[in-house]
Amino acid sequence: MSETTVAISEREQFIATKGRRKNSLKCDADSIAGCVSQRACVYCGARVVLNPVTDAIHLVHGPVGCASYTWDIRGSLSSGSELYRNSFCTDLREQDIIFGGEKKLAKTIDELVAKHPAKLMFVYSTCIVGVIGDDLAAVCKAAALRNNLEVIPVESSGFIGNKSAGYRAACEALLKLIAPVDRAQAAASRTINYLGDFNLAGEAWIIRDYLAQMGVQINTVFTGDSTSATLKGAANASLNIVQCAGSMNYLAAQLQELYGIPYMQVSFLGIEDTAKSLRSIAAAMGGGAIRAKAEVLIRRETDRVLPYINKFREKFIGKKAAVYVGGGFKAISLIKQFREIGIEVVMIGTQTGRREEYDTIHELVAEGTVILDDANPAELERFMTSQGAHLLVGGVKERPLAYKLGLAFIDHNHDRKHPLSGYDGAVNFAQEVYSTLCSPVWKYTAGKGGG
Ligand code: SF4
Repeated sequence: MSETTVAISEREQFIATKGRRKNSLKCDADSIAGCVSQRACVYCGARVVLNPVTDAIHLVHGPVGCASYTWDIRGSLSSGSELYRNSFCTDLREQDIIFGGEKKLAKTIDELVAKHPAKLMFVYSTCIVGVIGDDLAAVCKAAALRNNLEVIPVESSGFIGNKSAGYRAACEALLKLIAPVDRAQAAASRTINYLGDFNLAGEAWIIRDYLAQMGVQINTVFTGDSTSATLKGAANASLNIVQCAGSMNYLAAQLQELYGIPYMQVSFLGIEDTAKSLRSIAAAMGGGAIRAKAEVLIRRETDRVLPYINKFREKFIGKKAAVYVGGGFKAISLIKQFREIGIEVVMIGTQTGRREEYDTIHELVAEGTVILDDANPAELERFMTSQGAHLLVGGVKERPLAYKLGLAFIDHNHDRKHPLSGYDGAVNFAQEVYSTLCSPVWKYTAGKGGG
């Protein structure tokens, strides 16, 4: 049996070890039946993207469990409305599933609008809605006319793919919201949209502040701390920058095609990528004074945070990290960010990474690093253990696995309550790695964790 084969032989193509086999990792495919993947569902993908729209009613058409799955685990902050922090659900029961849930959906929309004045509502379909075949679009259209607000169906029922299909469903819903504009005027606006930032713990505000210091204004964020009004005006921007590629590259490409807005990839994770992104934005916005201001900001902030990071770095000698996150672009940034703090990544995987991202990961990591796509808990356990990882970076589903194995854990998902973007985020990251990896608690575990 090969080293990459764990419990299910069909998974072998989704796992590679750098230096031991050709870089031909399979990815961007459906999960294998019978294998409990760490991926979230289609509906969850859509909800992750849309939930930070703060003044919208978010209504889940499905069983109450689907709504509770994503309720209140998001750390997205709002500077205004708190309506998005509610999770509404049609609570479909056996009778609805036999006779159809359309009437219940229409009634729920009417009740919600009466209780919560809003201009916008997203209605998410779940697995069961895909099975019983409720006509979500027709119910939403009629409800919009009846109640005089925008009701946008989010076609995120299961069986149509994986979490990536949910991202796309969310992008389709957003496209319905964006109003056409006079492009000649918009191109001259010299503002940007910031795509793929969900304002976790105020991260979008950190980046907005950096850009303001450079003399660049944000038109709207997709979708952190956004409102129906700001999203509607998205076509007014002259440039789109994309942080979370997995969720937003599709929308960026559509906005380029429909409205001629160019887009570029950025990352604000770690000192290196933050500086690189600020320079790229400055160049795309015309260079000159913007570039000069960016350089002042980069120098000042790097000088300010580097001593802290170097101090932590001394504590991490000999430590190894495992990374399992949603998207490939974040995974790439994390390899570099761990390098900044002197830690080697020995296992890295993603839920929805794309081929070109895995190619970059393969280039960046050291010989012997295990790379895996759409992993399951058994694989994560095996490779974290065999690679001698002291720390796992993941999300809500990976946390218990790390702790049960006696490994330190870093939460890099949507439920975290502290920012990891930009220069202060880089310090927070190093501080968090230190507090988990160097905690005395590992003295009392099986001995695989930090300490
Ligand atoms: S039932 Fe379907 S939509 Fe609901 S949480 Fe489970 S997988 Fe997601």
